[in-house]
Amino acid sequence: LIFSRANRLSSQQPPQAELSWNPQGLPIATTFDDVYFSKTNGLAETRYVFLAHNQLAERWQSLRENFFTIAETGFGTGLNFLCTWQLWQQHAPATAQLHYISCEQYPLTKQDLLQALALWPELAPYANKLLSQYQILGPGIYRFQFANGKVLLTLLIGDANECLPQLDGSVNAWFLDGFAPAKNPSLWQPSLFQAIANKSTIGTTFSTFTAAGIVRRGLQAVGFTVNKVKGFGSKRDMLCGIKDNTISSVITTKTPWLDRPQPLQTAQAKQALIVGAGLAGASTAEALRLRGFKVTVLDQQAAPAEAASGNPQGVLYAKLSAHQTPLNQLVGQGYRFSLQWLNNIQQRLSQQSFWSACGVIQLAFNDKEAERQQAIINSGLYPESMVQAATSTMLSELAGTEIKYPGLFFPEAGWVSPKHLCTSLLQQPGINFIPQAQIIDIQWQADEQQWCLTDHQQRQWQAPVVIIAGGTLSSQLKASRYLKLAAIRGQTSYFPVNETSQQLRTVICGDGYLAPAVAGQHLVGATFNHHSTTGELTIEDHQLNLHRLQQLAPSCYTACQQQQPTGFQEGRVGFRCTTPDFMPVIGPLVAEQAFIETYGDLRKNARQPFTQPAPYQSGLFVTTGHGSRGLISAPLAGEILACYVTGEPMPVGHELLAALHPSRFLVKDLIQRKR
Ligand code: SAM
Repeated sequence: LIFSRANRLSSQQPPQAELSWNPQGLPIATTFDDVYFSKTNGLAETRYVFLAHNQLAERWQSLRENFFTIAETGFGTGLNFLCTWQLWQQHAPATAQLHYISCEQYPLTKQDLLQALALWPELAPYANKLLSQYQILGPGIYRFQFANGKVLLTLLIGDANECLPQLDGSVNAWFLDGFAPAKNPSLWQPSLFQAIANKSTIGTTFSTFTAAGIVRRGLQAVGFTVNKVKGFGSKRDMLCGIKDNTISSVITTKTPWLDRPQPLQTAQAKQALIVGAGLAGASTAEALRLRGFKVTVLDQQAAPAEAASGNPQGVLYAKLSAHQTPLNQLVGQGYRFSLQWLNNIQQRLSQQSFWSACGVIQLAFNDKEAERQQAIINSGLYPESMVQAATSTMLSELAGTEIKYPGLFFPEAGWVSPKHLCTSLLQQPGINFIPQAQIIDIQWQADEQQWCLTDHQQRQWQAPVVIIAGGTLSSQLKASRYLKLAAIRGQTSYFPVNETSQQLRTVICGDGYLAPAVAGQHLVGATFNHHSTTGELTIEDHQLNLHRLQQLAPSCYTACQQQQPTGFQEGRVGFRCTTPDFMPVIGPLVAEQAFIETYGDLRKNARQPFTQPAPYQSGLFVTTGHGSRGLISAPLAGEILACYVTGEPMPVGHELLAALHPSRFLVKDLIQRKR
């Protein structure tokens, strides 16, 4: 409540649904003057139009693949999603995954969603799970995991005509449900039908409540056979059909090095080896485990998260911007993914307290930062439920300590104990953690179609999938030496809790961060030393952290000075792994020399189209370069990698995948004629 005043003055909100409720309690979209579902019986209409006319129950009973993908235009109240989930649980094999992808330009508020879904008591168990994760979202792509990762919801927020082309994945059945063409003509464009065709294969089905000619002709033009059948209830007709023709669906990319490698075949063993037991490795292990993989995680250290992920506290710190760059997509979408991921894991492994959603404050500690924050609030990209502008008085009240600057407040964020989190993840069934295994060699065994890893004691492990998640060490293996990685030293300082600092209720970030105490101790950090390689604590860095404390929470600083007049004594040094463009490296690895030969002509003409596929090293992937934002990017990276491995639809769009792709370094070198 205390924010509403500040927000009315300054905040611009992303588009959201404007609803009215008719006398029967049904939601009406005022913008479109149309209903979200049938006035007679929305549940029965969904089952008739979408579930039955895509033959879902029959298809799932005989499903042989590991996953099935549905895509929808218009998520609305989520009724179709919940009905589909219910049917999935009744008919699909217990080991399979449902991917439900839905575009929505005007998301409902959580309150409206709650009210709309209350109409369907029989869906309550599913609706409650959706509501526990749901938050109104700004533009972007967001993935949510339900039912232990067996039901995955990917929401594409924005106009379907713009979002769908970003989708990386192919669809088995389409629910075309975006209000009647007469009331919403801008949705039903040729670009929509083209995008639908591009994401479909032979055998992909669709159904829609409308029988409008524009929809029939649009789908026929891109290769669907379209049938007009009896509509629901009093409606005369509706359409359904199948893609049985490849016209218009062959996409030739000009950048084949960004195409996905062949996924693991259904017959191959679901086994993976992961090198590195920090956040990157542990979150990838989690994503693969949820998909039924047996995962072995190897690390040269004696315990998980001993290197860059080893701080006792890390902050879920979303450094947003007012621009939709790939970096900002990564931060915004990664933040949302990490939040629900942490909440899910915390709930599943009850008793574990590695995550505290205490809220995070970002101070506008100088003019530049104040301007940046104002631009974020004005951008219209972020809903109030995610980030709010606040005065220093409001922030002081929230934090429980005096704060000198205005700033932003992220109510859902908080701090994580990465070490505790990684340890818990790696103790789950399906994951085997091997400490003190320094991997020195990796070889492809063509006969067995698998990789063989060898450690410093000549011990060996084999699997068809290998993920390198070794921080800066990731480029030391021959197979991945072309990655450009650098280490940046960071020192954090610890101090014992005092009477003032124990009042602290939130994380405070400025030019560094301070978190509420754990086990009687606070953490302030962290320094950035680009040139130092020392693993020892330094007095200078402790001093810098003391200045940080003064900026972040002056009364905690004063109390700390009184308690420890000689300054900080304890702390920790870590090395963040970064890349030249500050984006992490997430994706498949290629055979370096073959890549240089295949695309060597890039040296002559950077815009030249190529047709040759990239020489991927089968089943070999990397996740590293997460810098100091591993809590934001590593869980999403794990999900991306699992989708690369299995061939599932991606949780992020093409543009972001390209910006994360490991081959970007080689392409850049070729264009700049450095190779
Ligand atoms: N499937 C929904 C359900 O289960 O509640 C009902 C969908 S409602 C009939 C149509 C939805 O399409 C609305 O939520 C509307 O905001 C959305 N929509 C309309 N035009 C759109 C567009 N161009 N891109 C994405 N979504 C759009």
